[in-house]
Amino acid sequence: MKFETQAIRTQTETTSQREHSTPIFPTSGYVFDSAEQMRALFAGEEEGNIYSRYTNPNCLEFEEKMKLLEKMPYAISSSSGMASIFSIFMGILKNGDHLISSKAVFGSTFQILDAFLPNYGIQSTFVDAFDEKTWEAAIRPTTKMFYIESPSNPGLEVYDLSVVKAFCLKHNLIFVIDNCFATPYLQTPASFGADIVCHSATKFIDGQGRVGGGITLCQEEEHFELIKKFQRQTGPTLSPFNAWILSKSLETLAVRMEKHCANALEIATALESHPELNWVKYPGLVSHPNYELAKKQMKLGGGLIAFEVKGGLERGRAFLDGISMCSVSANLGDTRSIITHPASTTHSKLSEEQRLDSGITQGMIRLSVGLEHPEDILADIYQSLEKSK
Ligand SMILES: *Cc1c(COP(=O)(O)O)cnc(C)c1O
Repeated sequence: MKFETQAIRTQTETTSQREHSTPIFPTSGYVFDSAEQMRALFAGEEEGNIYSRYTNPNCLEFEEKMKLLEKMPYAISSSSGMASIFSIFMGILKNGDHLISSKAVFGSTFQILDAFLPNYGIQSTFVDAFDEKTWEAAIRPTTKMFYIESPSNPGLEVYDLSVVKAFCLKHNLIFVIDNCFATPYLQTPASFGADIVCHSATKFIDGQGRVGGGITLCQEEEHFELIKKFQRQTGPTLSPFNAWILSKSLETLAVRMEKHCANALEIATALESHPELNWVKYPGLVSHPNYELAKKQMKLGGGLIAFEVKGGLERGRAFLDGISMCSVSANLGDTRSIITHPASTTHSKLSEEQRLDSGITQGMIRLSVGLEHPEDILADIYQSLEKSK
């Protein structure tokens, strides 16, 4: 079956009530038919629900759909994108291990790698994911993993997944990618050899700014078992209600992403010639430095645009204050268009040097294009650019 059909027709078994839409299963535990069944379930000899920290029908439905959509055999959901990302590192890496990460990663991911993992003896080297030569220099005998985000947040850089895969094969590294910006509708990294794919489901997967959630997909059973063991024992479980929302949202992911991308392309194209902007970056614009690669790896350009207002930090903040319809918020991937100033918010914990290193300038604005009419979004941007002149 095709993407849209899988996203709609993958459903938990109907209960005795013959409901059409999957119900929510708010239960913390499950009952067993017999002592023998309970023993077999605990021993892992039989598959089934034991306790909601482990599995829940709503979480399983969400995971089943994501496996089909990402074309990967194993999935485990969690309470947030960060819980999923942290669990990958904690499940797989050990004291003494080393990983290479793109320096253009989500702010909290950078914090985990830079501030927390070293406390457990896990070191990271941050590299420019465009510059393969620097990757070779970063390799140590203990290097186990290569971590990237593509397109990156908020710089919208698009990296060559096949080149990353070739490097990982050469050095026997686990290739992990945060696929949050693309969603499986626009990009399936497993097709380019990714071993582990993670998502903040809080973004386009929910798509309406309601709940937090995360998910990790694995190609290898061994990786999945390690991450699952860590999550089950430490408890960053996705709630049944959130899983229900996320699974329902997947039913409309394809139509929503088509419209997010169409709106974003129209807005990026219009903004490109605006005299008050220094540059506009969108993977669907021919002017994007990796336009051809984006076209090869992604179905469409995505729902995010970055641009730089003239006048640096002060103008950037004045531009935010002048916005009237769009939301000034830190989220993204919502039906509502959202405007963020990364330098003073999501990436404020980085030093100026680290920020510039990941392409975040003082006047940079990140626009998550919503599903409002594109002319209304543009009109809001135009009036604020005029007002903040
Ligand atoms: C938001 C985000 C995360 C973190 O996800 P949460 O659900 O907020 O924990 C990770 N990676 C990217 C690219 C994100 O945009």
